[in-house]
Amino acid sequence: MTKLTVLGTSAAWPAAGRASSGYLLESDGVTLELDLGYGTLSRLLELSPPPELGGVFITHAHADHAVDLHGLYRVLTLSRPPVRSPPIFVAPNVLERVAPLEGPRGAEALARGLDLRPAAPGRTYELGPFRLRTFSLPHFTPDLGVRVEVGGRVIAYTGDTGPSEEIVALARDADLFVCEATCQGVPTGDDARFLLSASAAGRYARSAGAKRLLLTHFWPGDDREVSRREAAREYGGAVELAREGMEIALG
Ligand SMILES: [Zn+2]
Repeated sequence: MTKLTVLGTSAAWPAAGRASSGYLLESDGVTLELDLGYGTLSRLLELSPPPELGGVFITHAHADHAVDLHGLYRVLTLSRPPVRSPPIFVAPNVLERVAPLEGPRGAEALARGLDLRPAAPGRTYELGPFRLRTFSLPHFTPDLGVRVEVGGRVIAYTGDTGPSEEIVALARDADLFVCEATCQGVPTGDDARFLLSASAAGRYARSAGAKRLLLTHFWPGDDREVSRREAAREYGGAVELAREGMEIALG
């Protein structure tokens, strides 16, 4: 039995009552957290507190995907007694961004307290029952899309990305494609290169043959139903909108 629980769906900052990016995967009692954006840690501690937490994967260094890694560091190191860290896979620049929150020697502190595994594009990592493949995707900072195979199911997650054919490889025949859809209409300027529109998310999901499309990473205040309609026109099937607390059973 594999299940995904949505912890947060807001791009940029956590909209009122929401959190930023975070998704908890669970398979046969083992958990893997994908991203730890603003406000996700509290919910993670309800669902899979250390030492139950099996692992973490952070797609990129932006605070709306990574900042609660600092909170997790504190949970692990300041709990009485301290808790052994699960493996924590981090994309390039994540530690440089997060460690200073712990002060001038934050990098050493995090290296001591966390079981850090620097992740690179085009690699495969094993974590309990999870097999993770990474894809380099275009964003303002290096982003690693991750394709997770577990229990005969495939879950693909973009993190944040601009348009790229790598997205099709990432989501090929996925049982669930969790795709960022920050923009509505036609993005302009840097957004056009480094973020996706809902319609592009639908197009890529269709090209990849993804069986389910879950849109996420919505701009705070946007009407999410607009994103659903724009994506559905391109995808040609039902499109789901991620929301905090949503659970998706994948069998
Ligand atoms: Zn983001």
